[in-house]
Amino acid sequence: MSTYNPAAAAAGVAGSKLSAAEIAELYGIPFWSCGYFKAGPEGHLRVSPYGEESSELSVSLRSCLDELVRQGESLPVILRFPQVLEHRLRSLNAAFSEAIRKFGYESHYQGVYPIKVNQRRVVLESLAVAGEPYRTGLEAGSKAELALCLAQELGPEALLCCNGFKDDDFIGLALWGRKLGKNVVLTLEKFGELHRVLQIAREVGVEPALGIRFKLHARGSGKWEDSGGDAAKFGLDAAQILSAVEHLREVGKLDALQMIHCHVGSQITNIRKIKTAVREISRVYTDLVRMGAPLRYLNVGGGLAVDYDGSRTTFYASANYGLQEYADDVVYTAMEVCKEAGVAHPVLVTESGRALTAHHAVIVLSVVDSMGPTKRAPELHASRGKPHALITELEDLLKGVTVKNYAEVFHDSVSHKETMHNLFDLGYLSLAERARVENLFNRITERVARVIRGLEYVPEEFEVLPRLLADKYVCNFSLFQSLPDHWAIQALFPVAPLSRLNQTPSRQATLVDISCDSDGKITKFTDLRDVRATLPLHELRDEDPYYLGVFLTGAYQDVLANSHNLFGRVNEAHIRVTGTDKFCIEHFEKGQQARELLHNMGYEVRQLQRSIRRQTRRALSRRAVSDEQARTFQKRYDNELLGYTYLED
Ligand code: PLP
Repeated sequence: MSTYNPAAAAAGVAGSKLSAAEIAELYGIPFWSCGYFKAGPEGHLRVSPYGEESSELSVSLRSCLDELVRQGESLPVILRFPQVLEHRLRSLNAAFSEAIRKFGYESHYQGVYPIKVNQRRVVLESLAVAGEPYRTGLEAGSKAELALCLAQELGPEALLCCNGFKDDDFIGLALWGRKLGKNVVLTLEKFGELHRVLQIAREVGVEPALGIRFKLHARGSGKWEDSGGDAAKFGLDAAQILSAVEHLREVGKLDALQMIHCHVGSQITNIRKIKTAVREISRVYTDLVRMGAPLRYLNVGGGLAVDYDGSRTTFYASANYGLQEYADDVVYTAMEVCKEAGVAHPVLVTESGRALTAHHAVIVLSVVDSMGPTKRAPELHASRGKPHALITELEDLLKGVTVKNYAEVFHDSVSHKETMHNLFDLGYLSLAERARVENLFNRITERVARVIRGLEYVPEEFEVLPRLLADKYVCNFSLFQSLPDHWAIQALFPVAPLSRLNQTPSRQATLVDISCDSDGKITKFTDLRDVRATLPLHELRDEDPYYLGVFLTGAYQDVLANSHNLFGRVNEAHIRVTGTDKFCIEHFEKGQQARELLHNMGYEVRQLQRSIRRQTRRALSRRAVSDEQARTFQKRYDNELLGYTYLED
């Protein structure tokens, strides 16, 4: 296999076109994409929304963007592929059908989509429609979510699970859902909810269906490990569950208890943890059945992970298993426990959200500029008189960087730079001299980096060099709006250019957003073996916009987004792929206008406009502006309130 040669890239060698293996090495696309994204022969990133199943349905993302731009729309934009959602749902159900068939499991599987993962209309409705043949249900964790779920026309068997802490209104609404003929199950998260549910059910005049979340001893793995275990926030422990069963028996309502539920956290990276949790919850299920509880559903919650970096490991941005292994282990483990206890097989329920939604959304950013220490610095005029000794010494160091002395040269130049800062602070060096020292230091660092790229062994202290030398590609987006999990919990998302994939990238870059916050940057990138500090990217060209896709962003990001700096929700296009290179934009939703964001912050937009008019009149009366200038300014201000909050050129 030929591999990507970073030395050639660093030297900017255009060379021959990169092979598929070289592109895979650079961006890992075949490893994290589950077959939905591929590099095409023309160097464009292509989407195949049904993966390998119908690979003739495929279109270049760049052509989708070109069409949007032709229609006058701006970036950043989220491209959503509802077909990917359908395919994820089909694949999950197919995996469970296969496991059920393989092991001879004597009941069925029916999933529930937890809408907290992404409540956007297109996501919810696509999953509800695609889920109809599979009895797919929904999970609501709040009153507003329940209101949304109740309005969906689900089939009579599809579950509507109500999780989370509940007040009387939440309980009442859920019970009215049962009156409408919906299969609503109220999950008890704490013991006290039991009495309220029974009381309100009597008032509403309906038989409740109850689930109980059990506080498992088992824990997940990865970032959400603390969601499970004895100290978990939700759920009843063993003693409480027994009391609940006793109480239900006493009041003649044991029949209401239909479901046992658990959730040990999202993104469980290790399949062993899932098996342990399923075994424990299955043991609770079988014991309760043997005590006479007429349970029917075993709900193992969410947690099915997404392999963001494609490494197939237990690393927090990965998973050491796939859909089929997950389904096999859930089905087999539950079956084994039921067999040991002589209990009939329950209907298996999962609440997978991330694994259903992550792949369907790509955030596309345009790179608007690049900055970096190795960009040619403006030529500095040699200062009059004799240059400072620091400058001449650095010039000498620059001339003689070799494989043998690179470490010494680097140490010397670091120490010279430190000396320069001290001298500058004390007033012994001018700003012009400081600029010369900085330029020389950057050039030396660049040469040292070039030397060590050819070495087999690189001492640890030099591993920082790529980051020191990296460019900063300025991207037109806000991290806080589009990738909140990268900022908040250092979640990793794969990033790749949408075109020029078959050309050798000659730059190493980090990405910075346009917010005024120094946290607004991406300096950690996915890699099969590591977390990368930089991303290999192409030199920007004036005439050719450079677009980057951030992938697997369909779970949680839309919902956790915030409008830091008043950058609002971004434009989004829902795209259906209809053939090879054929697609239609089914729906385009404009991102938020400035006035909506201002309104959300409690401002009356009319009042702001009135204030501007008042101030303009005052400027007019002072003759600081002409009539025409006043009109132009007011128009511009009003337009801005209606405009997109991102950079528009
Ligand atoms: N079910 C419950 C109760 C949850 O709290 C969550 C989210 O953490 C989920 C399901 C969805 O989990 P995931 O997106 O990992 O499948």
